[in-house]
Amino acid sequence: MTHQNASARFLIVGPQGSGKGTQGVLVAEAFGVPQVATGDIFRANVKGGTELGKRVQAIIEAGDLVPDELTSELVSDRLEQADAERGFLLDGYPRNRGQVDDLARFLSTRGASLDAVIELVVPREESISRLRQRALEQGRTDDTEEVIENRLAIYERETAPILDVYRAQGLVVRIDGVGTLAEVTERIFVALAERGLQPNGDGAAAGAA
Ligand code: ADP
Repeated sequence: MTHQNASARFLIVGPQGSGKGTQGVLVAEAFGVPQVATGDIFRANVKGGTELGKRVQAIIEAGDLVPDELTSELVSDRLEQADAERGFLLDGYPRNRGQVDDLARFLSTRGASLDAVIELVVPREESISRLRQRALEQGRTDDTEEVIENRLAIYERETAPILDVYRAQGLVVRIDGVGTLAEVTERIFVALAERGLQPNGDGAAAGAA
């Protein structure tokens, strides 16, 4: 046996433009677990012209949610891969109550549970201005004014409430997402450490033993 953390199963939740993608990658790397971002997986499928991509393209371009059944199946297939056995960082899933329940079922049948839910708090105005900036830089087809409005509205209506479920389980680590990238990263690692969640001191432990 190696001296790895028992498990590192994280969610990162925050509005569009909160920086959760960037921060999520850093947390995942530090803990040596895969980052699984449903939006990235969907976009890769659209780009690759796969069957899944064809099914979800119009939904994504409108900023609506892909049906739960399709999304949850995609996620459980991914989490069943060997590299996710010890842990994972999910970005962009779950996004509503149905998906929260699907994930809970998936984990419980494996006797697994979440270790923390990282909530990135960013005011709406800040979110919108960051997304406008990203639209100029990356030209994502769902970063138009109209679609941004729709995505934020869905976040507020369907996604933000899932935090109450995880709060009741004592899992939520609330992080102020306003500041430089490095400041926010520091806040996340400090808050996780306060809960006894620390990356292994020697960096990526896998393979080191
Ligand atoms: P953002 O968080 O900025 O909206 P994402 O890259 O996370 O961007 O997601 C892009 C799109 O992919 C979403 O607008 C939605 O259409 C789809 N999507 C991603 N994750 C989910 C999910 N968990 N459930 C349903 N649809 C999703």
